[in-house]
Amino acid sequence: MTEILNYNARPSWLRSSLIGPLLKHGELMNSHAEVGQEETGYFIYDLDYLERHLATLLQQDVIKLWFAVKANPLSRVIAALAQQGFNFDVASQGELTQVLAQNVQAERILNTGPAKSKAQMKAFLSQGVGTFVVESLNQLQWLNQAASELSCQPQVLLRVQLQWQEGEKNPLGGNEVTAFGLSCDEWQTIKVTDFPALNINGLHIFQWGNMLSNERMFELWSQMVTPLLTLAENLAMNLEVLDLGGGLGVDYLQTGQGLSWSTIIADLATIKARAGVNELWLELGRYAVADMGYYVTSVVDRKQNFQQQQLILAGGINHLIRPAITEQPFPVAMLRESAASPEYFDLHGPLCTSLDKLGTLAIASDVEVDDKLIFGLAGAYGFTESMPFFLCHQVAAEYVLQHGKIEQVRATEPASWYLR
Ligand SMILES: *Cc1c(COP(=O)(O)O)cnc(C)c1O
Repeated sequence: MTEILNYNARPSWLRSSLIGPLLKHGELMNSHAEVGQEETGYFIYDLDYLERHLATLLQQDVIKLWFAVKANPLSRVIAALAQQGFNFDVASQGELTQVLAQNVQAERILNTGPAKSKAQMKAFLSQGVGTFVVESLNQLQWLNQAASELSCQPQVLLRVQLQWQEGEKNPLGGNEVTAFGLSCDEWQTIKVTDFPALNINGLHIFQWGNMLSNERMFELWSQMVTPLLTLAENLAMNLEVLDLGGGLGVDYLQTGQGLSWSTIIADLATIKARAGVNELWLELGRYAVADMGYYVTSVVDRKQNFQQQQLILAGGINHLIRPAITEQPFPVAMLRESAASPEYFDLHGPLCTSLDKLGTLAIASDVEVDDKLIFGLAGAYGFTESMPFFLCHQVAAEYVLQHGKIEQVRATEPASWYLR
């Protein structure tokens, strides 16, 4: 029996081109379930949509775009980004190996991250990486040594962390000290001429997350310009590149807010002119890939408990941990037609910890055991951010939709796959 969604109730994040292939996949999985190979949860990434989305992002000559690989390191996703013209920001040898394995040239890769040893940076240089965001005085020293040992001259951006004086209008809403980069005071103790093996020509700043307002984003970027220009002047460095990180938001809570890309480009053209730099860079994570991805799992049990309606799902934070650590659920819908009015349900996963909750969200009130739920905006911070090993459930499968067809990239795996 093929069931279809009620198109009137289809949420905007659920693209209609996906529904036919998904329902077909569901039928296939039902036949697998009869032979005991049931999937408890899977991700699906709509590469047909991703291609169009990336093309839009790249239709401008104001900013150079990098992809923060931690958001989604799946081979097919990296390949799609590479083909469209994105560059790659990697933060570990694992990410570097994965990007190189998709035939991306090392010149299109930069290395960011607070935990870079000399050995790691030397290994990256040997693999052809020529751009580094440096986050400590040791990193600067070690990279200079490694580069002179290998007779190369990498490009270096210094990562800056800003704070605002008490009483000043603080655009970040707090002054928590993080491990990312250094204050201007610390950077001001160096002399760029002491690092002859490095081409120190840029500054990097990124200390905000999931911004949904163009006005606020512009205000934030604007407030960074003066302190950064002052630092560059004090260091007598030639400021050619400004990297403003990521943090462009997606509307997880479905508030109707969202960023306009054309406004971002216009705003960044202003920032670029004010900063007087040749190149302005962004490393996008979620804004590039969140809305091309979905997570699907099924209802194992439904019960009423005190005043709460609860659904217990086959997959939870073992596949998708982000809601538990950010308190921002991914939006959800039932993957079949229903005329029943929506009702709030607590969505719990299968782990024996109260942390395992994907949110309290509205679903058609006739949702039942074995119904499939689909979560949206799950293309970023999904599979690799989760905690798949706890309680020995199955590892989620991963699929792509390309040219209208679903292809499996990763099969689900039982716990015996990783247990020793
Ligand atoms: C995680 C990260 C990003 C991407 O962040 P999003 O909010 O997903 O865009 C960009 N730059 C750096 C250095 C990061 O660590």
